[in-house]
Amino acid sequence: MVDLKGQYKKIQNEIDQAVLKVIREANFINGPEVGEFANGLSAYLHAHVIPCANGTDALQIAMMALDLKPGDEVIVPAFTYVATAEVIGLLQLVPVMVDVDPQSFNMTLANIEKAVTAKTKAIVPVHLFGQCVDMEPILAFAKAKGLYVIEDTAQAIGAEYTFSDGRKMKAGTMGDVGCTSFFPSKNLGCYGDGGAIYTTNEELAIRIKVIANHGQVKKYVHKYIGVNSRLDTLQAAILNIKLKHLDEYCSARATAADKYDALLKDLAGLETPKRVPNSTHVFHQYTMLVKDGKRDALKAHIEAAGIPAMIYYPIPLNEQEAYKAIGKISGSVTVTEELCKNVLSLPIHTELTDAEQELIIGTIRSFYNN
Ligand SMILES: *Cc1c(COP(=O)(O)O)cnc(C)c1O
Repeated sequence: MVDLKGQYKKIQNEIDQAVLKVIREANFINGPEVGEFANGLSAYLHAHVIPCANGTDALQIAMMALDLKPGDEVIVPAFTYVATAEVIGLLQLVPVMVDVDPQSFNMTLANIEKAVTAKTKAIVPVHLFGQCVDMEPILAFAKAKGLYVIEDTAQAIGAEYTFSDGRKMKAGTMGDVGCTSFFPSKNLGCYGDGGAIYTTNEELAIRIKVIANHGQVKKYVHKYIGVNSRLDTLQAAILNIKLKHLDEYCSARATAADKYDALLKDLAGLETPKRVPNSTHVFHQYTMLVKDGKRDALKAHIEAAGIPAMIYYPIPLNEQEAYKAIGKISGSVTVTEELCKNVLSLPIHTELTDAEQELIIGTIRSFYNN
């Protein structure tokens, strides 16, 4: 699904030097590269950036920093990666799962409105597969109701949302807090685990930094119960190099997506991914809808040709055993259920060649004898 070795080869000299430098100087924890990366990403996003150990921690730290309390309800999409809801459960909050839009696969204001109760404290829009949730109406609603907005932007780093007045903002910087992951296969991936929290609120940025570091406000002075969640210096050194290529990586993925669109869209048995008008799409995944119950057969056909294809995600959050016990479903989640049955993601990454794509496309077309 990704070609991390091919991507490394193109920047190998720079990466090797940066990694060796950290090792030679033995600056493994909080070395200068970590601050450099936080500043670099901050300049790119126009927000404060607090690096941490992974994207799941980022979500947990965000919710701890907003002082959410056991029993508080947090609205999440039923169609997402489990990490979004996991931290909600860990903090003894209640995940309230809402359905998503069949076109964008993202949560919508209409679904959120129906899920709000007197206990609701926060909304977690997940910018799924690399395209922003329609944030403007959700932000206005959250403001009116006094709800926090925590963006899960693990799949959408670099995506840009355009407001109705023409203002543009990066995914993760529109709500109170944004949370991202640098897991190797993410659009900005490191060579292990990594994550970051964004906010444009200075006070909150300080609190997040303190919570990520044992709640320590001064050496050996602990104001809050925090966590120990750091981005390794080695990972920061790698990310400093890859951050310079982020826009180029996003556009390589978008170009590959355009090619899939152009050469698959005439197939009546498929729906290629929809692009929403007010967000760029950084194509963390290229996710199609396969009609007529043929998803699993098409997947097997693609795999038989030695090509990977993946199902993100096969099971709605509300059907996961762990979340049945603690979560609530708002209304029905029929769109999510349909998506789980019909979605299929094709390989998409920065190193995908025309020849590879033509092979993938030819294999899909042969399934439809077309
Ligand atoms: C990857 C991912 C996460 C978690 O990131 P980790 O770094 O693996 O902890 C959270 N939410 C979504 C939507 C993701 O895709």
